[in-house]
Amino acid sequence: MTFQQFGLSNELLRAVEDQAYTTPTPVQAQAIPVILDGHDVLAGAQTGTGKTAGFTLPMLHLMQQTHDKRMRKPAIRALVLTPTRELAAQVAESIALYGRYLPLRSLVIFGGVGANPQIQTLRRGVDILVATPGRLLDLANQGEVNLSKVEFFVLDEADRMLDMGFIHDIRKVLKMLPKSRQNLLFSATFSNEIKKLAANFLHQPKYVEVARNETSHQVTQVVHPVSKSKKRALLSHLIKEGNWNQVLIFTKTKHGANRLTTQLEQDGFTAAAIHGNKSQTARTKALAGFKAKQIQILVATDIAARGLDIDQLPCVVNYELPNVAEDYVHRIGRTGRAGNKGDAVSLLSADDKKLLIGIERLIKQSIHKVLVEGFVPSAEDDAAAEEEGRQALAKQQQRRGGGRGKSSAPRKRQPRRR
Ligand code: AMP
Repeated sequence: MTFQQFGLSNELLRAVEDQAYTTPTPVQAQAIPVILDGHDVLAGAQTGTGKTAGFTLPMLHLMQQTHDKRMRKPAIRALVLTPTRELAAQVAESIALYGRYLPLRSLVIFGGVGANPQIQTLRRGVDILVATPGRLLDLANQGEVNLSKVEFFVLDEADRMLDMGFIHDIRKVLKMLPKSRQNLLFSATFSNEIKKLAANFLHQPKYVEVARNETSHQVTQVVHPVSKSKKRALLSHLIKEGNWNQVLIFTKTKHGANRLTTQLEQDGFTAAAIHGNKSQTARTKALAGFKAKQIQILVATDIAARGLDIDQLPCVVNYELPNVAEDYVHRIGRTGRAGNKGDAVSLLSADDKKLLIGIERLIKQSIHKVLVEGFVPSAEDDAAAEEEGRQALAKQQQRRGGGRGKSSAPRKRQPRRR
C-alpha cells in the first residue's frame, strides 16, 4: 500500500514525500479512505500510530478541493480539539507540515500564554483551528472565535479529555458548531463514557481499530521488583549500565517528579521535570532540551507527558506505576513509535503490586519480571511497602467515597441523590 493509492492531491503527496514516509501506518490505511469518503469516524488509536497524519491528510485534501481562493478572510472550517497544550502544538505542527504546499491557514490556541497574538491572527482569519478547550471557550465567549462555518470537527485523545474533566467544555463547543459537519473522534481506550459521548455526536461512524498491540509489540516490557528505598539507586544503575542516553521517566505526582529530578542531578545526570505546575515556557524549554539531547532525562507526570511526540525515544521508565491502568498503555506508547524498537521498564515496589495486576489484566498479558542483582527486595521491605500500599488505596477509595471515581469496582450501597 502506498500514499498515492489514496488519491491525495499532489501537494499533499509532496509533503508526505518530504517526510520520507514510504508506507501508510495501519491507522492511516484504514482512516484515510473513509474520511475522504465523507464519513464520521470513531478511531481507536493511541499516539505513536501515525493517527495525526491519519486525520490531517484527508481533511486537508477535502478542504483543498473546496477552497475558495477569492475569500479574503477565511472562516474556520476545521476545528481540532486536544486535551493538552503540548498535543495541540504538535498537531498544529503536523498540519503546518502536511499542509505546507496548500494555501490554507492554521492556528493553534491554548492557555498559559498571552491571548493577544492569538486574537490578532484569528481576526485576520484562519481555515484550521487547533485548540485546547479552556482557551477556545474563553475566546469564543469574547466573540473572537466564530465556529459557525466548521465543516470538520476532530476530537483528539478523547479519553484523556474526559479524564481531565473536559466533558462539559466539549458539550459547550459542540453547541457552537453547525449541525452538518464531519466528525472524527480518536481515543486510545473505549470506556462507557467515551461510547456515550461518541453516540452523542457521531453520525453512523465508521470504526477504525488498530489492535492495541500493533505498536506495543515493538516495545519490550519488563518489570524490576525492588524495595521502595532502593528504587532511585536501581534507576541510576540501570541508566548507567544500559547507556540510556534519552529516557522519559514517569512519576505519579508533581512533587515526586521534582524530587526525582533533583536526585538524578545529584547522581550526575542532566534531568528536567515537566508537569502542570511548571510554566509553559519552562515546559517548552525542557522538552526542546530533551529532544536536542542536551538533557538526558525527562521526568514527567501523566498529564504533562500526554501526546509528547519525540522521534525514536528509546526508553520509557515507570518509576511508579500509574493509578489508572490505561495510563500505562499511554506511557509506554511514547516509545517504539512508527516502527522503531523501544524499552518500557517499570520499577515495582510492593505497594504497587495491585496496580500491576490491573495493568496486566488490561493489556491481557503478563509482563516479564526480572530481578536485578544487588537490588532484590527483602521480605521485610515487601511487607512494609505492601501495608503502605493498602493504606494508600484505602485512603484513595475514601476520597472517592461519593462514587464518582474511575474505579469500576461495584459499590455495595449507592448514596441517595436528591
Ligand atoms: P502520531 O501517532 O500521529 O503522533 O505519529 C507518530 C509519529 O509517526 C510521528 O513522529 C510521525 O512523524 C510518524 N509517522 C506518521 N506517519 C508515518 C508513516 N506513514 N511512516 C513513518 N512514520 C510516520
